[in-house]
Amino acid sequence: MKLIDSALKPEFTSMFDVEHIRADFPILKLQVEGKPLVYLDNAASSQMPQQVIDRLVRYQTSEHANINRGVHYLSETATAEYESARRRLQHFINAREDREVVFTSGTTDSINLVMHGYGRKYIRAGDEIILTTLEHHSNIVPWQMLAEEKGAKIRVVPISDAGELLVDEYEKLFNARTKFVGVLHVSNALGTINPVKEMIAFAHARGVPVLVDGAQAAPHMAVDVQDLDCDFYAFSGHKLCGPTGIGVLYGKAELLERMQPFKGGGDMILSVTFEKTTYNSIPHKFEAGTPPIAAAIGLGAAVDYLSAIGLDTISAYELKLLNYATEQISNLPGVRVIGTAARKTAVLSFVMEGVHPHDIGTLLNHEGVAVRTGHHCVQPVMLRLRVPATARASFAFYNTMAEVDTLISGIRTVQKVFT
Ligand code: PMP
Repeated sequence: MKLIDSALKPEFTSMFDVEHIRADFPILKLQVEGKPLVYLDNAASSQMPQQVIDRLVRYQTSEHANINRGVHYLSETATAEYESARRRLQHFINAREDREVVFTSGTTDSINLVMHGYGRKYIRAGDEIILTTLEHHSNIVPWQMLAEEKGAKIRVVPISDAGELLVDEYEKLFNARTKFVGVLHVSNALGTINPVKEMIAFAHARGVPVLVDGAQAAPHMAVDVQDLDCDFYAFSGHKLCGPTGIGVLYGKAELLERMQPFKGGGDMILSVTFEKTTYNSIPHKFEAGTPPIAAAIGLGAAVDYLSAIGLDTISAYELKLLNYATEQISNLPGVRVIGTAARKTAVLSFVMEGVHPHDIGTLLNHEGVAVRTGHHCVQPVMLRLRVPATARASFAFYNTMAEVDTLISGIRTVQKVFT
């Protein structure tokens, strides 16, 4: 199979050329408040290149029908393209088999699938689930619901003031009752890159499976699920230059096979009578009803686009943006960076003396700069680092050094307004 469609290749030469890349993103030409948009909210959702938009239009204009079992041309075409998107995702994360890729509606849905499909079947009263302080609420709340239902217990890995996991403490949490680990690969609030490979090896040596929340890693670094040896890996399409409403759950085939379905309905069955229903094979067992076909195909195009640039190229460029932004912001008096881990992706969370983060966000918006403010769905992190909220600039490979300068001058303007 030809994985990277040449029509999807971004127009750039051998050198990383950010201006060529930006030309692929129509939304980046917007003006906000009369100023050029500076979009620094990529950790919440990234923007879509024309190549992905075109792929969605092609699907809707010449390929759409419901998938599976149709014998007519359009149904066969849509089914083939949907399954081809699955293989693109398989290659993107280097899964062993395409049936290890389940399409979900996003990271949250993927984690809930594991909680219902694995957790409700295998976690019992008295069992322990290890999570970390850095987790997004989507990797806390489902496990709390499970713990409450089963009488299980959640143990939490603490973090340092820099926002790094205390790995020694993680190791100390293990005992004979430990039955599951959930850990995020990259922190959405702080950018910390966690040593998940080592954490997985430690858990596996004790027979404990590990789910990795990769929502913030998949868009910014090459992910190899076989190398990580994770049991589950969850991520979202809309943070990967793809559409909303689509995500992936990677699961090792032998685990997915042992799990119970999360949702029941059409397509996830082989046969139904009122006496007995037999379930379909994986991954279809977990894809009840009509899936988001267009969004899955769009996500396939998005990972082709990112792969054509190269995830290593993206990581290296974004690191330069982060280092430059960190250096610039540290020259500003009264501004404190929250999250100073040694290994970070391009997330810059900060607070300013005497200014609430929401005011920072509102004033930056007047300069055309989009940042996110609040607790970023990680209230335990805010509590631990003793800040009510932060302002967060999160970069993508289509951001520029000049945009960092606009952010910094915007912060200076905020300071002037508040002094
Ligand atoms: N985990 C992390 C680390 C995230 O950053 C996010 C999105 N902010 C999620 C999970 C949830 O993703 P979604 O809303 O796409 O399900």
